[in-house]
Amino acid sequence: MSKKQASLLVQGYEVVIGFETHAQLSTHSKIFSRASVAFGAEPNTQACAVDLALPGTLPVMNKGAVERAIQFGLAVGSHVAERSIFARKNYFYPDLPKGYQISQFEIPVVQGGEVSFFLGDEKKSVRLVRAHLEEDAGKSLHEDFHGLSGIDLNRAGTPLLEIVTEPDIRSSAEAVAYAKELHKIVTWIGICDGNMQEGSFRCDANVSVRKPGAPLGTRREIKNLNSFKFMQQAIDFEVRWQIDRIEDGYEIEQATVLFDPDTGETRAMRTKEDAADYRYFPDPDLPPLMIERDWVERVRAEMPELPRVQAERFVADYGLPEYDATTLTQSPAMGAYFEQAAKLSGQAKLVSNWIMGEISRRLNAGELDIAASPVSAAQLAALVARIADNTISNNAGKQLMDALWAGEAIAGEPQAQVDALIESKGLKQMNDSGALEAIVDEVLAANEKNVAEYRAGKEKAFNALVGQVMKASKGKANPGQVNEVLKARLG
Ligand code: ADP
Ligand code: MG
Repeated sequence: MSKKQASLLVQGYEVVIGFETHAQLSTHSKIFSRASVAFGAEPNTQACAVDLALPGTLPVMNKGAVERAIQFGLAVGSHVAERSIFARKNYFYPDLPKGYQISQFEIPVVQGGEVSFFLGDEKKSVRLVRAHLEEDAGKSLHEDFHGLSGIDLNRAGTPLLEIVTEPDIRSSAEAVAYAKELHKIVTWIGICDGNMQEGSFRCDANVSVRKPGAPLGTRREIKNLNSFKFMQQAIDFEVRWQIDRIEDGYEIEQATVLFDPDTGETRAMRTKEDAADYRYFPDPDLPPLMIERDWVERVRAEMPELPRVQAERFVADYGLPEYDATTLTQSPAMGAYFEQAAKLSGQAKLVSNWIMGEISRRLNAGELDIAASPVSAAQLAALVARIADNTISNNAGKQLMDALWAGEAIAGEPQAQVDALIESKGLKQMNDSGALEAIVDEVLAANEKNVAEYRAGKEKAFNALVGQVMKASKGKANPGQVNEVLKARLG
């Protein structure tokens, strides 16, 4: 066992996790009918005869859902099956009027593949078993019905891609990193809107523990983790619970559990004894799903550069640290914004700092996406160029950013806009060494006590003098230059 593996042990146990994720596909209509999938409609206004399972209706495959499955398969290096099969998964529940869910069982459309991500500076890969197409069920509503329950079938027939991993994940931190990377991939290629509150991206975590080298332990499945924060809490609780059980001499029973965010605990919903036998069989109403190789190649030709590939390119081409590259590839819009500003200014690292700091802070405060940033990539490049050539200090850059953000720039080329604002706001850094020397002399004369302290070996007194000079220059002195002049004067 490697040092890293050993460091992941919890009380001497190895944690083993496999994920099943339901990603709602971003089609306009349902997987087997033409009803709309828009979220938030009045109950039962978006369920047509097919979704209601009225006798005599037949499902018709939505090509857009298949295309999205192909895109996913290509994004994660899977085999896209030439021929896959729809199967009926039989069970009874009030929100499933057909009495079965159409899914894929023996031959799924997407087979194999892997999702890679960084955890700190360690690269980790999680193998995928499969991803299959299926329909969602309706929803039971238990509020506002005077003690009765209502059924809303709007969600029935919504297209889902269920993405299943091998049990390759070894900690709650890895689980969250995997889920975030998967979320990034499906939203990046645009097959899912990724909205976790609305249930568009739902994760189930299968968790077991074992002594290192032992066969796999019995797993319990935590259902419907709809936030990354709850995911980590739920898995951490579950791992401790299982270890305590085993240490107390019990065996883990296979079960499905729910996480309660109020108590921070997982609670069994059903055990294996209650598990349904789904009696899967091929759906006679749907022919095998045939995917021509031409179709796969057409989709491949239109695939965007993927986030991990882009991040690696940012490291190679712009010398960015891995952390910066990963942060800047959160969305295609952010990657493009960085790249444009980096190319225009030739200052990739400075641009990266500004996007991760000042720009992100302002975007978050305004709940804006970078695509809606009031400051364009070209304006950021112009600002950064003036910091790089010492025209303005970093602090003056922030004031300049405020002005740009507030839309104070006059019409014109970005560099001309930025230069005009530097002029009109008097942000120019003092680069005249004669003027700076005069200020330094004044400050030294007025602060004899600090000078004496510095000469007596107090480093702090020097910083106080730097502060005084910056203040006397109204913040326009170049801090590096102030340091030099002060050191020279103090001998
Ligand atoms: P089922 O058919 O009951 O859904 P699968 O074999 O499809 O079971 O596994 C479902 C998920 O559980 C997969 O992500 C798989 O990696 C994971 N898994 C299977 N066995 C274990 C285990 N012992 N511990 C943790 N995860 C597991
Ligand atoms: Mg399964």
